[in-house]
Amino acid sequence: MATRQLPLFGTQARAKRACFYSLHPSEKTGRFSAYTPKAMKFFSAKYGIPIVDRPTDLAAFDVVFFSLISFREFYDIARLAQHKRAGQEWIAGGNACVTPASIGWIMDYAWIGDCHESFARILSGDRSLPGMYDSRHPERPVHYVDEDIHLEPIAPSNIEMSKGCPRRCLFCIHPWRHRYQEMPKEIVVDFIQKHKNSRIGLMSNSSDDVSYYDEVSSLLSAKGKSDMTMSNAVQSFTEQMAKERKSDMLFGVEGMSERLRWIVNKPISQALLREKVDICLRNGVKVQLIYQFNLPGEDESDYEEFASDVAYFRSRYTSGSVAMTFIPNQPSAHTPFQWVVPTYSVPMQARLMGMRASLIGSGKTGLGMYLPSPLGASKWFAQVIAEWIAITPAVAAVVERLPSKLEVPAMIEWLAARGVTLPPAFLDRTADTVFPWASVITSGDDADKWKRYLGMCQKLASPRFHGAVAA
Ligand code: SF4
Repeated sequence: MATRQLPLFGTQARAKRACFYSLHPSEKTGRFSAYTPKAMKFFSAKYGIPIVDRPTDLAAFDVVFFSLISFREFYDIARLAQHKRAGQEWIAGGNACVTPASIGWIMDYAWIGDCHESFARILSGDRSLPGMYDSRHPERPVHYVDEDIHLEPIAPSNIEMSKGCPRRCLFCIHPWRHRYQEMPKEIVVDFIQKHKNSRIGLMSNSSDDVSYYDEVSSLLSAKGKSDMTMSNAVQSFTEQMAKERKSDMLFGVEGMSERLRWIVNKPISQALLREKVDICLRNGVKVQLIYQFNLPGEDESDYEEFASDVAYFRSRYTSGSVAMTFIPNQPSAHTPFQWVVPTYSVPMQARLMGMRASLIGSGKTGLGMYLPSPLGASKWFAQVIAEWIAITPAVAAVVERLPSKLEVPAMIEWLAARGVTLPPAFLDRTADTVFPWASVITSGDDADKWKRYLGMCQKLASPRFHGAVAA
């Protein structure tokens, strides 16, 4: 356990001592793991706050900060809860805290959004900030604190080139929680020129949409450097970028067919997808394609289109590498997708596992294609419901025993038989639904999320979606 200077705060007679608790200890090495939240490392270093990772270390502190970046960690918190001592204050921050109701049973407060400008005040004891969720008053409005892109980066090897996203895919948190911002080009250019490493991170949700990315790409090439984190909406990627690219290319494809991409407002045609992957493969660039499955309207025909794309690439290339990662859709809070009732198709998962098996060893005889095992139904559902119900130790103990191959209605029944029930709104979402995260007010670029959701429903019912009209 670190023993640096401990922060003292408030005017209380007794100084309060604060620590961070790491849910990802690396007991053998004593070093941070790849999953350690960057924000925790940043604030710990900046304010001299120790990071502890053993439950027995907790008792010495009056205030414990957590950085929760995934809903799985709500279950880790449930296991840790017995170590919260009387009078100790627990405060959570991190991406998962945008839906704080499920951890309000054990957290005294949760910070919603970016903490750069507020952390010093929180440390000094201020709990009345607009981004602070108070679990004693869960209905009180809390304002999501959007990050200002100009503030000090939390990881010095990276620079954030853009924040938010101009594309507005309906399932995605970025356009609906953040306003779109770009870092001034001069700052990014200066960062590239001065950074001593050749592999650097230019963070962006959609690098090729950044208004000056073509200049950045040329500069990287001229300097012999590469952008390790380039991520793409697909549409704007060019042959020139591929020629200048020295590391993998990542495309967020999302839907496995053209019609699915159309309904989620990511209208990448099959021809365009093939063209962009072709550009990469003929320029020797390794490609990572990120897909979602279980999207609204999805059926076997969408898988067939995906399978035809795989066959197309395998028939055209004798070398190269394409990885295809499938993530089960989890309808995100504060997006138009929050009205989508979550679904998980076990047959679709089986098809993907079949494709995975058929591709093993493909690189020995031609284009290497790889499909990692997608997250299974029970682990996915544990994450989904962690935004809806309190994940107490009793609930966590039941959820962690969920059978792995059930679909949503059967999982709901299985849980209910063991005393874990979901609210009626979980399956019945309307314009009047009050979500568990309703008190959190976000600030995206388009406030009318319900209208966007209805637009998707109209598309789903249209002849075009069902193949009666040419796209
Ligand atoms: S292009 Fe990517 S980051 Fe942008 S809205 Fe769509 S999914 Fe989100």
